[in-house]
Amino acid sequence: MIAADYHLHSAFSSDSSTLLDEQVKAAISGGRLKRLCITDHMDFDFPENEYGYTFQFDMEEYLKEINRIKELYKGKIRLCTGVELGILPHLGPKLKHYMDKYGDKLDFVIASSHLVDGMDPYEPIYFDTYDTKTGIRKYLESIIENIDVFNDFDVYGHLDYVVRYAPEKDKYYNPLDYIDYFDEILKKLIENNKGIELNTAGLKAGLSFAHPHPLILKRYRELGGEIITVGSDAHSPERLAYCFDRVPHILTDAGFKYYTIFENRTPEFISIK
Ligand SMILES: [Zn+2]
Ligand SMILES: [Zn+2]
Repeated sequence: MIAADYHLHSAFSSDSSTLLDEQVKAAISGGRLKRLCITDHMDFDFPENEYGYTFQFDMEEYLKEINRIKELYKGKIRLCTGVELGILPHLGPKLKHYMDKYGDKLDFVIASSHLVDGMDPYEPIYFDTYDTKTGIRKYLESIIENIDVFNDFDVYGHLDYVVRYAPEKDKYYNPLDYIDYFDEILKKLIENNKGIELNTAGLKAGLSFAHPHPLILKRYRELGGEIITVGSDAHSPERLAYCFDRVPHILTDAGFKYYTIFENRTPEFISIK
């Protein structure tokens, strides 16, 4: 059983209204999770949208609140402090400066691509602008570019997230059509000693797989990758540990014997049973 959910949001993220306390209480009452890592959204330079989301929060407040909740539920669950950083090619120096300030106060950092050419693939304009193949290819290219400008993170988030929003989702998606891009991404991550995550929100979004596709998980393992965290990307309590009962099978099929947790930015490998 996977007992650690390492991708979670709370009301510190613009797109969640769940109080941190509610996420933690729900995890404790669910009884299966021993460990939670909160990874709220910090996306610098996110364009204005119709909901007025900024995808930024006050880090000092965030650290204070997580520490308060951590104390409150001590002995019941282990709460870790993470962040999901939105990476953009021009943000390298700014993100580096930000992490110089806060990196050692965090347990875990996910780097994610949420914008390509100023557009969020979640918005219809993205696949109105690009046909399906071009949209997927550009998203993968953005990951390569982002890893080149910034590497103070632990895992890269939801590698093929863009497929969720393709006009026919994964109906025509074959990751082997993009294998050169994936190989470049995975090799760069492995060289830099970075991991990937298994993000079960793909299953929630109606895909037949959790991000990334099983062939990409397998490829990462074949290339020597070992660091893999597991996260539900829950923005509300009912999605905590979503489909985690399927995760051991997905990971062992791809050749993993361990999944990874982080504390103080240091990986620890937990046997998959
Ligand atoms: Zn994300
Ligand atoms: Zn997320």
